[in-house]
Amino acid sequence: AGTTTKPDISREKSAELFAKAKTYFPGGVNSPVRAFKSVHGTPLFIEKGDGSHIWDADGNEFIDYCGSWGPLILGHNNGKVREKVISVMQNGMSFGAPTALENELAELILKNNKYIQKLRFVSSGTEAVMSAIRLARGYTKRDKILKFEGCYHGHTDSLLVKAGSGLVTFGETSSAGVPKSFADETIVIPLNDEQALEQAFANFKDQIAAVIIEPIPANNGLLLQEKEFLKFLRIICAQNGTLLIFDEVISGFRVGFEGAAGHYQIKPDIITYGKIIGGGLPVGCYGASAEIMGHISPDGGVYQAGTLSGNPVAMAAGIAQLTELLRMGFYRELNNKTQEFTEAIQRFATARNYKFKVFTIGSIFWFAFTDKEAIRSADDIDPASMDKFKKLHRELLNRGIYFGPSGYEVGFISAAHTKIDLEKTKRAIFDSLELVF
Ligand code: PLP
Repeated sequence: AGTTTKPDISREKSAELFAKAKTYFPGGVNSPVRAFKSVHGTPLFIEKGDGSHIWDADGNEFIDYCGSWGPLILGHNNGKVREKVISVMQNGMSFGAPTALENELAELILKNNKYIQKLRFVSSGTEAVMSAIRLARGYTKRDKILKFEGCYHGHTDSLLVKAGSGLVTFGETSSAGVPKSFADETIVIPLNDEQALEQAFANFKDQIAAVIIEPIPANNGLLLQEKEFLKFLRIICAQNGTLLIFDEVISGFRVGFEGAAGHYQIKPDIITYGKIIGGGLPVGCYGASAEIMGHISPDGGVYQAGTLSGNPVAMAAGIAQLTELLRMGFYRELNNKTQEFTEAIQRFATARNYKFKVFTIGSIFWFAFTDKEAIRSADDIDPASMDKFKKLHRELLNRGIYFGPSGYEVGFISAAHTKIDLEKTKRAIFDSLELVF
């Protein structure tokens, strides 16, 4: 009660930089959502990050819940990651030849993940998914793939069909420049709908190479699936000779070291990772059984390559970060901290009868302006509710709290967020919600 709107933070330097950036880059950015198009004001140009905090070009300080869109599970500029990167860089930055660092990161992953036996490093999540799809097609000798409405899998042509992330933020469901013939190979059905899945397998019998899903869909809000649906998906794929791909670019190493596969104890045929695996540097990977991975070149007929794949500096960051995650109790601590935070916010909203729900899993959370108990498919989100997010985003920025600039994006808590950070954030959220409702 008595809360008032805060004055806008100064954005003079950011505005200046953005004006310049607009002369260089389409929309002034190198990735669309960064442009702040669906929230208030110009994007903030970030100068520095340390732990849970970031600073922009105007000297404003924020507690950050975007975490570079997920990779920074240890927070910004983690000392162990930084030191490892610097030490490896002393020996050069790229060789285009194998290095022991690739073995080291692969071993860290494979020894602690029972869902894949072999993997291949690439340089982004998009690349990981693109390669996984090719592998599935090459392996099954089928062309069609099935994806779910609202799941984002990077900007590969055939997957920019009813995708989330920037596409939903801008109110589009596909992209110009994707040939209709490519999109025709992609079947799209709603999440959490067993009947639609059965129907698709009946309509395209023996044609579906792979079903790809974010087992924890986090690019169109957080559309938590029921375990039963994921189990059904596992079974129906096996019955039809279709490979199941878990896109764990967000959930991998986030909800636990074994990601969503470990969380739900469901074994997909191929898994893609990105974000956390690179400790803030560009790394992705896809993995599967040794038998499936045997189909990749040079031994198999599915071609996939990369000049900077397995880059030593990027491997170093991944090694340092994943080593920290394997520390006893790491995830328990992080997840408990997140749960306390989100429950307190939910209690506040519920006590005031706000149409507001916090959905959460592991250290991922999403604010939904709804009174629904669960939101499991893209259709369940009311686009009009995004006006409320816009207002919330502005109030929070003005109180020193940084969220990704779209109501369809999730927030991340890192190991670097302190009790004090979370207390301050809660108070800012309470005040802001009073102004939004
Ligand atoms: N898959 C998922 C689930 C993602 O969230 C993303 C990116 O946000 C991607 C794939 C693409 O990864 P990248 O942006 O590294 O290409």
